[in-house]
Amino acid sequence: MQETSSEPSSKLWIKILIGMGLGILAGLILPHLFEAASLSDKSQIAILDWVGLPGALFISLLKMIIVPLVITSVILGIAEAGSMSFLKSMGLRTVPYFIMTTIIAVTIGLTITSIVRPGDAIQSEWAEQAMAEQQASTSQSNIDQLASLTIPDRIMNMIPTNPSSSIIEKDMLQIVILSIIIGIIVVQLSSKETKSFRELCVFGQTASMKVVSWAMAFAPLAVFSLMAGILAQTGFEALTTLGLYVFCVIAGLLTMLAVYLTFVLCIARRSPLDFLACIRNPQIIAFSTSSSAATMPVSLKAAEEKLKLEGDIFRFVIPLGATINMDGTALYQATAALFLCQVFGIDLSLSEMVLLVMTTVGASIGTPAMPGVGIVVLATILTGIGVPPEGVGLILAVDRILDMCRTTINVTGDLTAATVLQAMMPQSKTAN
Ligand code: ASP
Repeated sequence: MQETSSEPSSKLWIKILIGMGLGILAGLILPHLFEAASLSDKSQIAILDWVGLPGALFISLLKMIIVPLVITSVILGIAEAGSMSFLKSMGLRTVPYFIMTTIIAVTIGLTITSIVRPGDAIQSEWAEQAMAEQQASTSQSNIDQLASLTIPDRIMNMIPTNPSSSIIEKDMLQIVILSIIIGIIVVQLSSKETKSFRELCVFGQTASMKVVSWAMAFAPLAVFSLMAGILAQTGFEALTTLGLYVFCVIAGLLTMLAVYLTFVLCIARRSPLDFLACIRNPQIIAFSTSSSAATMPVSLKAAEEKLKLEGDIFRFVIPLGATINMDGTALYQATAALFLCQVFGIDLSLSEMVLLVMTTVGASIGTPAMPGVGIVVLATILTGIGVPPEGVGLILAVDRILDMCRTTINVTGDLTAATVLQAMMPQSKTAN
């Protein structure tokens, strides 16, 4: 793993930020240029396809190595833990920690939305019109499909009944569970029996991280391309109509960030500013790709090279966290659900609020780490509290921008978890 630190430039994040700034500018200017040149829709789409190409290639390169990287990282993380008792104490801390931070996130979202009441400002005619438009759109079938998956269905889906199809379909949760099982087997067998298998895993992981280094070398261009493409298509108009709702989500996410930094300071005893400096690459990549899964390789790199965490903990916590720990998504789903209740004039009783918290925590665990799926899973939550699932149509226009923000918090949450859990683990694992 050592040679992967040969990063193209230690000031890479500055180049990525410049790429992001230029991308935002280009995204805002492009629609005006299209209009001035009276380009047909077809030509506009063709140009946007080319603008988006470097970003799409970047994401594909990262996605290419996600499966081998998750498998080898989780297996090696568990194998490095070395003993079942260390593993048990890690698992017994990690899962409750994830659940606790998700509950905190949901509570923050619900509190801010209850105080600000952004839904009261929305005109009901606007809501009806937006819903009618949404009914005609294609994403509706997606929403129906995912809304029909119940929470028990999702829990059952976690078991990799056919490991090869889990890998082919890139079902990350099943892949993580499969890797945990293999990792535990490696720990239980003698080191002589597992030596060559471990070497193979080390090779798989080193090779994957090499690809991450290559991808990062052209991250500035990729981020430019992603930002330009997104903004040219989305624009900022919707932000004004839904301004208060957007404010609630972003204020909630920033509060969650403050909670993380407090944990880093009080539990891990690290400087929050230094922590933020170490994780800026994964944060920027999360923001521009809206995918915790695509960002995971970059998070692993930052955990090892910048935060200098111990492999046995971060290699287990980060892939697992990228899959099941989505505090930003949970906060967003709770805020959106309560906002829509306000729009549709539905008053939630205390027990319905508790149900909303529980459903959101479960749903965020089952949300795949991909762009735009948080809003689709939201449809399930809405059904549970009596809001028409079509209500998601009202907030679709601002979803991409909020997806970028919540994914950044999801990724920050995983890196915080790895840092904090390392500080919470018993000092000596060999003593077990
Ligand atoms: N895009 C988010 C992620 O990958 C999931 C979501 O849509 O909330 O973390």
